[in-house]
Amino acid sequence: MKIVVMLKTLLFNLLKGPVTRKYPYEERPPFPGERGVILMPDESKCIYCGICARKCPSNALTVTRTPEKEWKYERFRCILCGACVEACPKKCLEFGDRKK
Ligand code: SF4
Ligand code: SF4
Repeated sequence: MKIVVMLKTLLFNLLKGPVTRKYPYEERPPFPGERGVILMPDESKCIYCGICARKCPSNALTVTRTPEKEWKYERFRCILCGACVEACPKKCLEFGDRKK
């Protein structure tokens, strides 16, 4: 009896095809309501105050003023909490499409 169940499972899996995707050729569409990534569409608005980096709970943001002004975002550290977007005094951060 067990052999019948096993053969049924085997045939089902052979006919169904792979359950995985051929990433990166085939990408999964984002889930509805996904927040995406943090974007700074207009970097000229940033005053490099560093508030966003201080509010970030996962240290995904780094802001430096010297030797040169730099705002850095590490996407894979980000937990998409939105604290930086809320805290930015210049409102230059926003959630956006991760493909941008
Ligand atoms: S809080 Fe806003 S203005 Fe300040 S460094 Fe971050 S992005 Fe720039
Ligand atoms: S969304 Fe949260 S975790 Fe991501 S960069 Fe902003 S403060 Fe940090």
